[in-house]
Amino acid sequence: MDYPSLKNYIEGKFEEIRYTEIEVLSPTDGRVISSVPLSNYDAVDRAVFAAKKAFPSWSSIPIKERAQVFYRYKYLLEKNMEELSQLVQEENGKTFSEAKAEVEKSVEVTEFACSIPQIAAGEILEVSKGVECRIDRHPLGVVASITPFNFPNMVPNWTIPNALILGNAMILKPSEQVPLSANRIAELLKEAGLPDGVFNVVHGAREVVEAICDHPGIEAVSFVGSTRVAKIVYARGTSKLKRVLALGGAKNHLIVLPDANASMTASNVAASMTGCAGQRCMAASAMVAVGPVDHIISHLVEEAKKIIPGKNLGAVISRQAKERIENYITEAERDGAKVLLDGRNCKVDGKENGFYVGPTILDYVRPEMKIAKEEVFGPVLSIMRTENIDDAIKIQNSSMYGNAAAVFTQSGGIAKYIMEKASAGMIGVNIGVPVPREPFSFGGWNESKFGACDITGKSSIEFWTKLKKTTIKWNPESRTNWMS
Ligand code: NAD
Repeated sequence: MDYPSLKNYIEGKFEEIRYTEIEVLSPTDGRVISSVPLSNYDAVDRAVFAAKKAFPSWSSIPIKERAQVFYRYKYLLEKNMEELSQLVQEENGKTFSEAKAEVEKSVEVTEFACSIPQIAAGEILEVSKGVECRIDRHPLGVVASITPFNFPNMVPNWTIPNALILGNAMILKPSEQVPLSANRIAELLKEAGLPDGVFNVVHGAREVVEAICDHPGIEAVSFVGSTRVAKIVYARGTSKLKRVLALGGAKNHLIVLPDANASMTASNVAASMTGCAGQRCMAASAMVAVGPVDHIISHLVEEAKKIIPGKNLGAVISRQAKERIENYITEAERDGAKVLLDGRNCKVDGKENGFYVGPTILDYVRPEMKIAKEEVFGPVLSIMRTENIDDAIKIQNSSMYGNAAAVFTQSGGIAKYIMEKASAGMIGVNIGVPVPREPFSFGGWNESKFGACDITGKSSIEFWTKLKKTTIKWNPESRTNWMS
């Protein structure tokens, strides 16, 4: 093992208590790199106890002082950028530059969090002579963040800086497939000066997630992962009267018009479908080709051929994921799709045990086919052909998901029409991966997100706080009526 067995991080210490462990594998060559405990309700209970103990003093520190911890944390992310990126690469299997881009996004969200004191001040108004109303933001208390495998550093950081600067104490439950980055984040937060107990990590799988949903000491839960589990967490957490924001899976449509710039469209679509081996909730998964766009499709195939597994294309997360993705391709081919580029049975020299799938492009996929409807989560693009824009919109709108959608065209009018009609939370115009930059918030629609607010940006401030409204009278002569 390259890394020692992982431990839970509670009240500023890595706990010695042992649980059943499972292996952590490197997706690039299948070797065991560490092991992770499958903790239980007791571990969550201890973490809640520690967080509850830390909350009163942390939440009573002025917000500008809490932000100082995160200025230092941002510096530590930058200082340790190479090592943190390496860790992400090892546990997740993405390329080094993709891993680095992920840590850079963590820096950006931390920068945003440091600006929260400037933008989340309360409000005050003199509502009648000598009478004022004010609104102050208060933290919720102990909150939890449950994260997926595809961004081991960035997704935890979508929630940690914002929730903690706003005065909450947190329990993080990272994906058991990529648990290493979480412990390193805990170390850096401590080095940045975060008091013990404000941030805790409990490793594990379903049992820990259920304990988080059920534990009466946890006020709010954010979840990022598949729609299947997002629904479970949303239903279970809200049934226990918690505030829950659960981001789910995706099936993102790119609508391509014949007037689109061919080379820009081809390189954008190829990058979107293959980045992080297609394991991004913002990845292009379906391309809706409107009218005569064969010149763009052939350009796209040439671009995708330049993306080489093991070189500029990382591995998918597991052997099961590789099999699942390849089965989707085989089934689509059997159902009549034309395989323009085939990434099945891909082997990387020297990494024969790695979980690689090459870029795959399928043409003439029909909207009713399984591959057109379900999330594949691999470097696979399904092209569906239509004759007009409204049919393209109809295909996009029929998806149960609604994370992202994009249009490629030189026509402002068509772009505007699709921006308005697409049923998705994040829209791109000539952009393959329309991730909003801070302070704009991240979050989808439909079955890509359950609950109010988005997970980053200004919207997340609403999720992590509650408002106190106070009415104050200083003028003894003011008339007494229902308004004063
Ligand atoms: P997942 O749903 O399998 O796991 C997410 C978390 O839930 C993990 O921490 C896991 O331990 C836990 N979990 C798994 N099964 C559970 C169960 N039955 N009960 C309770 N908890 C359970 O997701 P994943 O495979 O780790 O990540 C990939 C998915 O995440 C994709 O669907 C992707 O689209 C989605 N995702 C969405 C966004 C977004 O912003 N919408 C961002 C990243 C990833």
